Amino acid sequence: MSGVQRFAQLCRTIVGVGRNYKDHAAELGNSVPSKPLIFMKPPASIILEGENIEIPVGCSEIHHEIELGIVIQSKCKNVPEAEAMNYVGGYILALDMTARDFQNEAKKKGQPWAMAKCFDTSCPVSNFIPKEQISDPHDVQLLCSVNDTERQNGHTKDMIFRVPYLISYISKYFTLNEGDLILTGTPAGVGPVKSGDVIQGEIPGVVKFTYKVTSRV
Ligand code: MG
Repeated sequence: MSGVQRFAQLCRTIVGVGRNYKDHAAELGNSVPSKPLIFMKPPASIILEGENIEIPVGCSEIHHEIELGIVIQSKCKNVPEAEAMNYVGGYILALDMTARDFQNEAKKKGQPWAMAKCFDTSCPVSNFIPKEQISDPHDVQLLCSVNDTERQNGHTKDMIFRVPYLISYISKYFTLNEGDLILTGTPAGVGPVKSGDVIQGEIPGVVKFTYKVTSRV
């Protein structure tokens, strides 16, 4: 695969992993899960640089969550953990934009997270990162700033469930294909943004992106 446009065309499934960093689970008052907490985002929520993040109607607290994304290379079904890395085609840096007020309401009522996680523009991504550029997905620094102020500075070594385990686990339930995406969870430091803010994400020396936040009208 080459280029983020091709990825965006191919992607048919996005699997999100929640609470995959201890410090992030703690900052929202959540316990650490004993198995991966899985949710989905629709591929239609992907945006590329040049497009804006739109705050959903009625949302009063939208959060940035910077995450390492795993882009799948080939059909992935019941993949053993030991072979999982053979199915990685590359990576992207992504924001799992989350309507936190919608999510808190859903959590309280035991309702699904769709309104919090799946709205239009909720999955801004970086350029495609070829697999060779990240030799170990557990040795990646994840940075996120808002209006030039650092908000998140995490490291993928702190993931609770690691990439091969996640691919193997997810592939038991969802068949993944070329271009599908796994969002591996966010480190601590998530927080609100408002219309007019500028979010920057970075893996130092590898990739960088900038997205502006606007209101949906
Ligand atoms: Mg997330």
